[in-house]
Amino acid sequence: MKEEKVFFGDTLKAFASRNDKELKHLLWLFKLMGNPSLVKLLSRLAVFSIKAGLPVSAPIKATIFRQFCGGESIEESVPVVKKLGSRKVGSILDYSVEGKEREEDFERTKDEVIKIIHLAKNNPAIPYTSLKLTGIAPFSLLEKISAHAELSEAEDTAFSKLKHRLADVCYNAYVNNVPVYFDAEESWIQPAIDRLAEEMMAEYNQKKSIVLTTLQMYRRDRLSYLKELIVKGREKKFFVGIKLVRGAYWEKENERSARMGLPSPVHERKEDTDRDFNEALDTCLRNIDLITLCAGTHNEASTMHLLDKMKEMGIANDHPHVYFSQLYGMSDHITFNLADAGYNVTKYLPYGPVKSVVPYLIRRAEENTAIAGQMGRELSLILAEKKRRQHEKLLPPGVA
Ligand SMILES: Cc1cc2nc3c(=O)[nH]c(=O)nc-3n(C[C@H](O)[C@H](O)[C@H](O)COP(=O)(O)OP(=O)(O)OC[C@H]3O[C@@H](n4cnc5c(N)ncnc54)[C@H](O)[C@@H]3O)c2cc1C
Repeated sequence: MKEEKVFFGDTLKAFASRNDKELKHLLWLFKLMGNPSLVKLLSRLAVFSIKAGLPVSAPIKATIFRQFCGGESIEESVPVVKKLGSRKVGSILDYSVEGKEREEDFERTKDEVIKIIHLAKNNPAIPYTSLKLTGIAPFSLLEKISAHAELSEAEDTAFSKLKHRLADVCYNAYVNNVPVYFDAEESWIQPAIDRLAEEMMAEYNQKKSIVLTTLQMYRRDRLSYLKELIVKGREKKFFVGIKLVRGAYWEKENERSARMGLPSPVHERKEDTDRDFNEALDTCLRNIDLITLCAGTHNEASTMHLLDKMKEMGIANDHPHVYFSQLYGMSDHITFNLADAGYNVTKYLPYGPVKSVVPYLIRRAEENTAIAGQMGRELSLILAEKKRRQHEKLLPPGVA
C-alpha cells in the first residue's frame, strides 16, 4: 500500500466539525486573543471579577471556556469525548482545578481522577488520564521537599496524606489498566514530583507503563535526566513512561530566577529548546522497548521530525508505545491529520468549574497571543480555512 506523507496544511480536515457560523466565532475569539494588551487586561479583569464574586462565569463559559474545555464536569464533557472518539482521537480528561490549598479540595481532586479512571476502563475513547500533583498536595509542601528542607510534624502528616492519595490513584490506574500522566510543573517543586513519579513507576510499571512522567524540554537539565531515567528503568527493571513537552512556565521561571539572583533553569533561546525536544524524541525512540512516549506538542516541525524518525526506524504508525497529543482547542490540523494517517492521537481535555480553570485559560490565551507582531498559529489556520471555504463557494457545482 502506498503511504502518503502526512500534510498538516489540510485545514478542511482540521475544521471539518465546524460550520461557517462556528468558524466565524472562532475567528473572532482568536483575533481577540491575538492582541497582547487586550489579553493582559482581560486576564486581570477575569481574576479580579472572580475574586470579587462578580458574575463572569457565563460570558467566560460562552467564549474561551467553550473553546478550550470539555465542560464543567465529566458528564458535561462526555459529548466532546464521543465526538473526538468518532474521529479516532482519544481524550485525556484533565480535572484542571488549580490553586487549591485545602485538604478537602485535595481529596475531591483525587476522587475525581479515580472517577475518570473508572469511566476510562475498557473505553478506547479515553486511553489515559492525568494528574497534577499540586491538585492533591500543597504547593509549599512540594517546594520544601524539593529543597530537602526539614518538615514540621504537620508537614510530615501532609506528606503521608499525599503519598496515600498518590498510591490510591496509581493503584486504581493499575488495576483498571488506565495509565496516568503526571504533569510537570514549576522547577522549584519538580524534584518532589520527579521523586514520587520514579517511586510510582518502579512500583506500577513492571509489565507496562502505567505511570508516565512529564519532561519539560525548555529546561537545560532534562536531556540528562531522561538518560538517567532510562538507566534506572533498565537497572531496576521497570518501564519508563514519558510525556515530552516544551514547558508552560518559561516566563515565570525566568522572572523567579532573576528575582532571586539565580541562573535560569530554562534555555534562553527557543532554538535550544527545540533542539533538546527533538533530541529527546530520538532518545525515546532508540529505547522504545522500554519507553512509552507521548509527544505533547503543537509544533509541526517536531511532529514531522518524529514521523520521519519512526519511518526511518521502521516503527509502525500505531505502535502502542508512541502517542501524539495536543491540547483541546488547539492544533486540530495536526490532531486530525495524524489520526487519519493511523497514528495514536489524543487530546488533553480539561474540565472543571469555570472559576477554577481560569488560570489554565489564561495560559492558553497567552500562548495564542501575537508575539513580536507575528500572527498566532491558530489564527492563521482559521484564516486559511475561511479563505478555502470562500474559494470553494466560488467554484461551479461539481468542481472540487
Ligand atoms: C498534551 C500536552 C500536555 C502538556 N502537559 C504539560 C505539562 O505537564 N507541563 C507543562 O509545563 N506544559 C505542558 N504542556 C504545555 C506545553 O508545555 C506547551 O503547550 C508548550 O510549551 C507549547 O509548545 P509546543 O511544543 O507546542 O511548541 P512551540 O509553540 O513551538 O513552542 C513554544 C514553547 O517554546 C518554549 N520557548 C518559547 N520561547 C523560548 C525561548 N526564548 N527560549 C527557550 N524556550 C522558549 C516555551 O516552552 C514555549 O511554551 C502540555 C502540552 C500538551 C500539548
